[in-house]
Amino acid sequence: MQLKCRECGANLREGNPGPLCSPCQEKRLKSVADTDRRYYTVEELQYILDLESEESVKRLGRKGIIPGRMPGIKKHLYLKESVDAWIKAGNNVVRKPTSPIQAEAYALCIRGDHTWMRDVRFKDQAYQEEHTSEISDRQSIVMSYIRTCYFCGHIEVVPFF
Ligand SMILES: [Zn+2]
Ligand SMILES: [Zn+2]
Repeated sequence: MQLKCRECGANLREGNPGPLCSPCQEKRLKSVADTDRRYYTVEELQYILDLESEESVKRLGRKGIIPGRMPGIKKHLYLKESVDAWIKAGNNVVRKPTSPIQAEAYALCIRGDHTWMRDVRFKDQAYQEEHTSEISDRQSIVMSYIRTCYFCGHIEVVPFF
């Protein structure tokens, strides 16, 4: 089934982030533009993308689909620069490296190699980390790290020893 933009009826590609096409997202982007701030809040992104809930925004942010999530901050905030570029490019931009350590990771990322995500040197530099815990079959608690590649949103689950 072909999905259509809720606002203008344009065809949406598979995996479109939300019910709006990117030109319609861009219109909303302009209506929340505040030149003094460097980031968007979850509430603003929920409106821009016309998503159902704040949780939907966070989910896309964790998956790295919405780019620019500010690392090391519990509250979800997204760099305006990255979000604007992503929407203008039809929700297609991957983040580009801005430091030598990011460049090192990016060179591997674009080749599909994410083994570097097991190296803590890249934490908050080229990947973001969250923890999860699950109860295993043997009723013990299994903790793991969920790491998200900064550039492409690739997720690596690393067990916690
Ligand atoms: Zn539209
Ligand atoms: Zn990557």
